[in-house]
Amino acid sequence: MRIHKLNLVLLLLFSGCLLAQPAGKTLICLTYDDGLPSHLNTVIPQLDSFGFKGTFFINSIRGSSDNIGSISPELIGWNKASEKGHEIGNHTLFHACPEAFGWQKSFALETYTIPRLLQEIKLAGELLALVDGKKSLRNFAYPCNNFSLHDTDFSMLLQSGSFIKYARTGGNRDSIVSDPAHANLLKIPSWLVEEGTGLNELIAFARAARKVNGIGVYQFHGIGSEFFRVDAQVHRAFLRWLKEHASEYEVGTFEETAQEIIRKGQPGFPDR
Ligand SMILES: [Zn+2]
Repeated sequence: MRIHKLNLVLLLLFSGCLLAQPAGKTLICLTYDDGLPSHLNTVIPQLDSFGFKGTFFINSIRGSSDNIGSISPELIGWNKASEKGHEIGNHTLFHACPEAFGWQKSFALETYTIPRLLQEIKLAGELLALVDGKKSLRNFAYPCNNFSLHDTDFSMLLQSGSFIKYARTGGNRDSIVSDPAHANLLKIPSWLVEEGTGLNELIAFARAARKVNGIGVYQFHGIGSEFFRVDAQVHRAFLRWLKEHASEYEVGTFEETAQEIIRKGQPGFPDR
C-alpha cells in the first residue's frame, strides 16, 4: 500500500512536470530601428494585415519631399502609423555611435558631451511630438545599443531628467526578459536579429521566451532591403506563425512590454 501511494505521488509529480505550461500568453514585442523606408513600405502594411502593433525607434525624419508642394511621404507615413496604434519611439536625432563601432570620427559619440546628448534626445522627443501629436514621455532605444559616453552610463540620466520613459538595449538570442523582478526598465534587452535570419530562428526565440515564461523582444532593422536585412517573406511568415499561435503568443508594443514587466515583477513601480 505504501508503495502504491509512493508510485502515485511520483506519477503525479512526473506528469506535473510534463504538463507544466507557462501561465497565460507569452508576450512578443516587435521593434524596428532607424525609421527605414522598408518599415513604411513593407513592415507596417504586413503588421496591419495581421492586426499587430509594432514599435518603431526613429531618428531623424526627412521633412522634405522630392516634389514641390507635396508633403514628405515619411512625415505622412509615420503620422498614419501612430494613428493606427503603432508606437513611435525616440532613437536620438543623429544616431551617434562610438567610433569603435565604425562611426566616422566627426560624428562619433565621442565628440559629444553628456549635456549635448541629453539635449539631442530631448529635441528628438519634441520633434516626434510634432509628427504624431503625442506629448507624453516616449520610450527610447540606444543607437547601436550603446549606453555609455566617456565611460559614463547615461541611462539613469535619461529617466531622472524626464527625457524618456523606458529604454531598450540590445542582446542576442539568449536575451529574453526572463526575470521581471530584476529587469532594468532602462535596459530592457532585445535580440538584434542578424542579417539573413530565417523563419525557424525567429520562431525559436519566441519558443525560448515561452519556455521560461518570459518576454521576447525582437530588434529588427531592414525588412527586404537596407541593412541587417531579413527577407520580407520570412518576416511575413513569422507574423503569420504568431497569428496561428495566438492562443500561446500575443504581440505588444514596447510600452506594453514595459508595463508587463512592471505588472509581473515590479508591482508598485510608479508609472511615468
Ligand atoms: Zn539605430
